[in-house]
Amino acid sequence: MTVVKETGTQLPLADGHVRISVVIPVYNEEEVIRKTYTRLKRVMETVHDSYELLFVNDGSRDNTAALIREICLEDETVKLLNFSRNFGHQLAITAGMEHAVGDAVVVIDGDLQDPPELIPAMVEKWQQGFQVVYAKRLQRKGETLFKKWTASIFYRLLRRLTDVEIPVDTGDFRLIDRKVCDVLTFMKEKHRFIRGMVSWAGFRQTSVEYARDSRQAGVTKYSMKKMIRLSLDAVTSFSHVPIKLAGYLGVISFLASLVYLLMVLIFNHAVSSVDALTFIALILGGIILVCMGALGEYVGRIYDEVKDRPLYLVDSHEGFGRTEANHD
Ligand code: UDP
Ligand code: MG
Repeated sequence: MTVVKETGTQLPLADGHVRISVVIPVYNEEEVIRKTYTRLKRVMETVHDSYELLFVNDGSRDNTAALIREICLEDETVKLLNFSRNFGHQLAITAGMEHAVGDAVVVIDGDLQDPPELIPAMVEKWQQGFQVVYAKRLQRKGETLFKKWTASIFYRLLRRLTDVEIPVDTGDFRLIDRKVCDVLTFMKEKHRFIRGMVSWAGFRQTSVEYARDSRQAGVTKYSMKKMIRLSLDAVTSFSHVPIKLAGYLGVISFLASLVYLLMVLIFNHAVSSVDALTFIALILGGIILVCMGALGEYVGRIYDEVKDRPLYLVDSHEGFGRTEANHD
């Protein structure tokens, strides 16, 4: 087993110069993986640059790894990293970035919701001098209203909470320059919200717009739990507002108690009912618990940082260290 902590130094890297690395995180995508490969391959052949297709298998329990291994044997441009278990989408992308050797790195979902046909347009922008080209979703097809609404509210709320300008309606489908990729792999934070990190990094950024397709096969691998975790990571990584809120609420309830005291002293307005006291106790108890929960979210993350465990574990890998088949 290879423990990877530093920037892609543990695995043998390719000798041939690779211009574009495509990173594809996959988790239980056996139904679609062949199709994804074929479409990506077709598009990359039109780009006229050397490339690698780097699949990161995030602990799939189905046949995904075996299918990619087969593809690896057929095609020298394909590489595969197998995680020891499911570490999550953001860490799979991180591993891909750490092991990619291209001058530009494209991150794309493995379920064909992000159309590979957009890659040439991204590469063109990159060649014009942009260092980050993100794909902005104009439309989301085949997703539930619930997902669309929660995503839309989340992006807008996040924008209000953070100082970093994180583009709305943008996922992880993007091209980043080698320089940006190095910055991201240098950032060792454990709870990673990569879209936010890319925005934080700055550099010359631009977007290309697209209509997000529906999944080509299978079901979403982003369970409700994973979605909530990602949103909490996003908020806690880029905003201190939730813990500051405790302070604001404290000031508000202190002022409210002063007002009440004045009412009692000046207008002789006394509390007579037990209900009022119960109400106040419940409200304050609720506020205090919520604040403690918010604090806990940050403390837990500090604990994770201090433990300093590796971000992910690679169980095995395929296709690294071969002479690249360069295409031009
Ligand atoms: N994915 C992953 N690890 C996970 C969950 C998802 O690598 O724990 C991959 C998944 O295989 C897909 C991409 O991340 O290629 C996006 O996931 P999904 O399509 O399920 O999310 P959605 O598009 O529904 O938000
Ligand atoms: Mg998807």
